[in-house]
Amino acid sequence: MKLGTKIQLYTTVMIVIVVICINLFVYFVYQKVSLDSEVTQLESRGINIMKELQNTSDTDVNTEAVLQSYLLSDGYITVVNQKNKSVVQISTDVKYKNLAESYKNEQYKKVVEKSGNHFAMVSLPIIWKNGEVSNLQIFENIDFKYETFSILKWILIVSTIIILIVIFLLNRIITQIILKPINELIEQMNKTRETKHYSKIDINDNDTKELKELSNTFNEMMLNLKDHDEKQQAFILNASHELKTPITVMNSYSEMLKRFGKTRPDLLDEGIDTINEEAKRLKYLTEQMLDLAKIERTFHDIELSKVDIIEQVSSLTKKLSQVYQRKINIYTTENSLAGKINKDSFNQLMTIFLDNAYKYSQSEIDLELTDKVQYIEIIIKDYGPGIVEEDIEKIFTRFYRVDKARSRQSGGSGLGLSIAKELASKNQIDIQVKSEEGVGSEFILKVRKV
Ligand code: ADP
Repeated sequence: MKLGTKIQLYTTVMIVIVVICINLFVYFVYQKVSLDSEVTQLESRGINIMKELQNTSDTDVNTEAVLQSYLLSDGYITVVNQKNKSVVQISTDVKYKNLAESYKNEQYKKVVEKSGNHFAMVSLPIIWKNGEVSNLQIFENIDFKYETFSILKWILIVSTIIILIVIFLLNRIITQIILKPINELIEQMNKTRETKHYSKIDINDNDTKELKELSNTFNEMMLNLKDHDEKQQAFILNASHELKTPITVMNSYSEMLKRFGKTRPDLLDEGIDTINEEAKRLKYLTEQMLDLAKIERTFHDIELSKVDIIEQVSSLTKKLSQVYQRKINIYTTENSLAGKINKDSFNQLMTIFLDNAYKYSQSEIDLELTDKVQYIEIIIKDYGPGIVEEDIEKIFTRFYRVDKARSRQSGGSGLGLSIAKELASKNQIDIQVKSEEGVGSEFILKVRKV
């Protein structure tokens, strides 16, 4: 079901239920109030008759005259004794016979229906002339009231139908007004989908707040998709370019060995060594790519725990300085520094920075660990060639290398710092770079404290 139809249906049904309830309430309250007032008036009339009867002489003529004088324009007055016999009957119409209610020992009033007519009636106990306690019963025809009720009923029914039609039509117009911009938005979105371009949709000043939010979210989503798509394409392009070089080298050397390998043994060693080198490089490259993909995919909900950063860094540098055969100095004034990290990914992250410091410099590597109250600061300092300022923000881009030849020589892939950036964000670590050409580089990590 369309949203517009749904809104129209629900609001119409709800309003109709409310209108019907209000009309029923009006009808029944009006009926009760007007019948009550009629019966109460009759009761006070009855009390007056009772008083009058007590003041008159006891002759039948006098009694009837009093009752006659109190007779209503359309009604009936009777006195019923304890044997339920009407001792006096005075009526305005001959058809009002035997309307009397049976004798009761109490005063009461009500509305009764007798032979197709509605009467308001009141019954009052009186002491009749013979000293017997009897009931003075007064009946007033109130059919005119019921005619009013019937007119009111029809007025309410017709007004309900008119309200229903008006509401239905109004709802239709209102839903169309509300849904018009949404439908336009859907149309724009469909157009964007059909053109297969990540185009943004226009936001008008007079759009509603929700519509603006919806358009903004859609535009942001488009931007993200575009960004993601571009990154993906750039990655594929760069990756195939990176993989192409070692494959081309391996291919040409294997061709050369195929042709001259048997006759020129001097080329054999060079060929095998080069193929072996390039195969290693290929392996390293694919491993780095897999690493990056894995981190992006699986490290979403990485678990961080309390770890002593000094202990963690010390044990890692101990191993690495043996592998590099290079001295790694740790400078800190603290005995321990509790940080919130994931041990494995933190080690991987530190290894990338230490690997780079080792690759791009020849001298010792310095590590500084400081308690900065808000966070723990780790500085990885090398005294290598440094990085020029305009390159600093680019080095975290995938496959970006400042000096391609040197990086290739040192076995770099251009993916190390991209992986480091991902790992740092999963560990909620901030990275800063300070570098001066010819002096060295500093990679500063801000680790969350526990
Ligand atoms: P690579 O595998 O090439 O080292 P990275 O992503 O780790 O790739 O680094 C990107 C580039 O940043 C490197 O090619 C290098 O030019 C530069 N770089 C990274 N670390 C250092 C460093 N400590 N000193 C000088 N240059 C660096």
